[in-house]
Amino acid sequence: MVIDFHTHVFPDKIAERTIKILENNILKVQGKEGHAVIRATLDDLKVSMRENSIDYSVVLPIATAPRQTPSINRFAAEINGRDNIFSFGSLHPSQDDWEEVLEGIKEAGLMGIKLHPEYQQIYVDSPECIRILKKCEELGLYTVLHAGNDIGIEPPVHCSPERLTHVLEYVKGDMIIAAHLGAWKDWDNVEKYLVGTPIIFDTAFTVFFIELEQLIRIIKNHGSEKILFATDSPWEHQGKSAEFVAGLPIDKSDVDNILYKNAKKILNLR
Ligand SMILES: [Zn+2]
Repeated sequence: MVIDFHTHVFPDKIAERTIKILENNILKVQGKEGHAVIRATLDDLKVSMRENSIDYSVVLPIATAPRQTPSINRFAAEINGRDNIFSFGSLHPSQDDWEEVLEGIKEAGLMGIKLHPEYQQIYVDSPECIRILKKCEELGLYTVLHAGNDIGIEPPVHCSPERLTHVLEYVKGDMIIAAHLGAWKDWDNVEKYLVGTPIIFDTAFTVFFIELEQLIRIIKNHGSEKILFATDSPWEHQGKSAEFVAGLPIDKSDVDNILYKNAKKILNLR
């Protein structure tokens, strides 16, 4: 079994346009082209799952402005738990009704939320973020955080490994999922600050960027029971990424933890 814990889909009407904008951002910031692997409508994701033997995908929407929150969470609730898709909810950390929104997400049966400190331009250890992490922990909601650099946004980085350790003064950390193996392209600092903490990592958009040696070392030292397979589809190919992780020179039990066992527990799948 394979569960992809980090994917994105966009409503049919805006998928094409949104992907274009994001690809342009990559070109601007990186100085070279980066392309989506699929078109990223819900149907495209389902086709990719079928073609690449992905059993379940978790969709992670991002509210880049407070006004987007209601429609994002309505869409999330609509697709959650159908056709092997799960969806998290989202909100903007600065919105006044954040507490109500989180309670609504819990009531709707979603397993958690996604925050993107870069797109939302907010530091992970700011009071606005910490109050959300605390409330999520209280409600039993997971929080997926984009962590480290974003390929399409200029620094400063709003969720660095060091900043992320500050939130551990307020929450336990075992309900936090730091995407991109703790911080995209900042894995030395992940090893310095985050490895060994209760924070969960995902592998989204990471395995083809990190040195193999460092990847294996982080898995070993952090523990495979705290790492989730993820691709960041449409930005990474689900099949190639799963194949790469399945072929890692680590114990089969560690591969199984990463590819599906940890995710199964979080999603309450039998
Ligand atoms: Zn992502």
